[in-house]
Amino acid sequence: MSEVDISSLRMKLLDLREELQVLAQTANASAQVVELDQARVGRLSRMDAMQAQAMSQATGRRRELMLKKITAALARMDEDDYGLCRSCDEPINPKRLEYDPTAILCVSCAERSE
Ligand SMILES: [Zn+2]
Repeated sequence: MSEVDISSLRMKLLDLREELQVLAQTANASAQVVELDQARVGRLSRMDAMQAQAMSQATGRRRELMLKKITAALARMDEDDYGLCRSCDEPINPKRLEYDPTAILCVSCAERSE
């Protein structure tokens, strides 16, 4: 089994975090634009506006969750706790971490918890 390349995974996580933060800022900015637009022109029906808002809230929640996972993964890296399964303490397959650097369960524990 190959070694986990923590430093490249850390870079990946930091990049991802930055991307999400930029996206969050853009989303906030465009949400404000929609509100202003609506007040002035009244183009969107109330239903449409509510739907759009619900969608952007769901996206925002997913983004927040992802940010939390990333922050937690970075903290585990700092504590040398990274790459071990939360459930059975076995090392997580590096390929899995490569695919999802925020993974906290090994493949078999993840399958069991699904
Ligand atoms: Zn496990």
